[in-house]
Amino acid sequence: MEEMDYRELLKNRKRIVVKIGSSSLSYPNGKINYSRLEQVAIALSKLQSEGRQMVLVSSGATAVGAGRMGITGKPSDKVEKQALAAIGQAGLIKIYQRFFDRHHQAVAQVLLTKDAITIPVRRRNARNTLDTLLGLNVIPIINENDTVSTEQIEFGDNDTLSAYVAELIDADLLMILSDIDGLYSGDPHNNPEAKIISLVTEFSPWLENIASGSASSFGTGGMVTKIMAARICWEAGIDAVIASGEDPFVLFRLLKGELLGTLFAFGSRMTVC
Ligand code: GLU
Repeated sequence: MEEMDYRELLKNRKRIVVKIGSSSLSYPNGKINYSRLEQVAIALSKLQSEGRQMVLVSSGATAVGAGRMGITGKPSDKVEKQALAAIGQAGLIKIYQRFFDRHHQAVAQVLLTKDAITIPVRRRNARNTLDTLLGLNVIPIINENDTVSTEQIEFGDNDTLSAYVAELIDADLLMILSDIDGLYSGDPHNNPEAKIISLVTEFSPWLENIASGSASSFGTGGMVTKIMAARICWEAGIDAVIASGEDPFVLFRLLKGELLGTLFAFGSRMTVC
């Protein structure tokens, strides 16, 4: 299959998980970028109206909490982070709710810890709830339940969380919107030769190296967790895309089949094998 054929297939993806990270939702000084959140709400409401089932995995609880408390810089320890997330999660959902309301789109807050994925009875429960919400035409807005997360039950990052959610609900596409516009052949910060890889069709040892964090400095800057998310999608046979979160309307262009970001075309894997 040619790359354009894989991209064409994105047009028909129906159940889609969109993940957006804190760095795409806030300014470098830590202040929340309200218009970015509004654009996310507009894009997802429109895609939902087209008949797709959208799920949003949004970070930003800690950032909103820090903003509310006038705290700049990273939280000093885990307890402070958990407290800021508790403050910020309520604010984050309030902001989203206001923007989604303008587009007459109902949303629901879903906070998960890893045991919702790994313990069968909780897994069934989480899946049923998410299925019911999607059946009711509601967009779930998911985040890690940072306030109660301990090492044993934490996802640790929302890239991984979003991939587990995609797997849990049998999504047919995961779209990760990030401050990097795709996977590069090297570290774009210090290698001018590094080129964006537009299509990945299998989880190669090179990707395995990145996911394990052993691919030197290229592993930093959030790519490790994104490739870990891609590995979960590979195992589940789900397509994934990494693209820039600078303009959330990029979702429309990707779903029209445009050649943007990196497409991990893993959706046909189960049928090919
Ligand atoms: N759950 C964290 C928050 O909302 C973010 C985790 C992440 O971005 O990976 O602040």
